[in-house]
Amino acid sequence: MIHDVAIVGAGPVGATLALALAGNDLDVVAIDGRPPGATLRQDRSLALAHGSRLTLERLGVWAGLEAVEGAVTPIREIDVSQAGGFGSAVLTAAMQGLPALGYVVSYVALQRALDAALAGAGVRVRFETAAAGVRGTPGHAEVAIAGGVSPIRSRLAVVADGAGVAVDGIVRERHDYGQVALVAHTWLEPPRTGIAYERFTPDGPVALLPERERHGLVWTMTPEIAETMLAVPERAFLDSLASHFGTRVTGFVRVAERRAFPLVLERARPVVAARVAAIGNAAQQLHPVAGQGFNVGLRDAWELAQTILDAPRDAIGGGAMLADYAARRRVDRSAGIAFTHGLVRIFGNDLPWIRWPRGVALALLDAVPPAKRAFARAMLHGLR
Ligand SMILES: Cc1cc2nc3c(=O)[nH]c(=O)nc-3n(C[C@H](O)[C@H](O)[C@H](O)COP(=O)(O)OP(=O)(O)OC[C@H]3O[C@@H](n4cnc5c(N)ncnc54)[C@H](O)[C@@H]3O)c2cc1C
Repeated sequence: MIHDVAIVGAGPVGATLALALAGNDLDVVAIDGRPPGATLRQDRSLALAHGSRLTLERLGVWAGLEAVEGAVTPIREIDVSQAGGFGSAVLTAAMQGLPALGYVVSYVALQRALDAALAGAGVRVRFETAAAGVRGTPGHAEVAIAGGVSPIRSRLAVVADGAGVAVDGIVRERHDYGQVALVAHTWLEPPRTGIAYERFTPDGPVALLPERERHGLVWTMTPEIAETMLAVPERAFLDSLASHFGTRVTGFVRVAERRAFPLVLERARPVVAARVAAIGNAAQQLHPVAGQGFNVGLRDAWELAQTILDAPRDAIGGGAMLADYAARRRVDRSAGIAFTHGLVRIFGNDLPWIRWPRGVALALLDAVPPAKRAFARAMLHGLR
């Protein structure tokens, strides 16, 4: 039996693709190594652009997410500053005439809402089924399944496993930033609901994303410092965090759920091979400094769904369809990668000569309305 589309990984990006294809008379199957109702990835705060909200609304996921109390926190203000240098910028939704500059959702809450939508749409998902490898033949793709289960054949295999499974014809380029992201939840007194903070410090960027009455912390540091910071008592941790924010953010009273993730830039080259396309983190894994990763992945999923739906059934997975998809995604993917990588290079170091232009850039961003509008647009809709 040959399916039209087999999706490897029903994480946030693979599930979005499956939902976007549902109800279109296509034979689609998704597999995921996780048990039903579980996530294998640790929870993290995801900053979603307004454009991502619109996609999730169209797919009927947003309403389910919003129905869960506290699952969505609108960002009404973003405060950007640098330690040890002048220049800062404050961007507010009110100034832009918008209800929100973006939204923060928890990875786990988002996955639950997507799983519920998949079940509601009748999408076939084989849980506890892990791919061991993907290869294309001229006529179909073959997904090998771990544990000796029969392979899955389809006109097109979409790899959305967050990177990991070997795919014939696709290599993954890897740049190791030599840093880790320490993530945690932290509480401020008084709480600053709806305000996101991005602080550039000599040790690397620190972000605070508003999640209800608390903030999701993403703090970039070396693996050695992270090892210490994961173990230090709570008060010492909070004091160190406060020293990075100076007077810009004060009142850190609690931290919980400290964990560290290694930071790498990985990109699939090319993003398509015979009968196979890679999307989401399997196509590009970005540094979380700009909160772009899932937003770019969501646009991969949406655009791939449109390309599949535009193609006649027997052209699905063919060279022309895949080339069309790769071309549609080239600019946005490259912009997401370049923006994130550039931000890390400019803002993620403490070269004294860069502190001054950085301050000028922040001051200009704060003072020049068109620059603010452009920044707000990038936050809302991505960097296309
Ligand atoms: C600390 C941190 C903070 C971040 N913050 C943001 C942010 O603010 N905004 C943002 O947009 N992005 C952010 N990201 C990035 C975001 O988490 C990813 O871009 C997003 O999770 C990618 O989704 P995905 O579905 O491609 O992959 P994943 O989330 O990795 O999901 C992959 C799915 O595939 C399944 N799977 C894995 N291997 C197999 C296999 N062999 N066979 C079958 N199934 C398999 C897994 O069980 C999982 O369900 C952050 C990342 C980190 C690390």
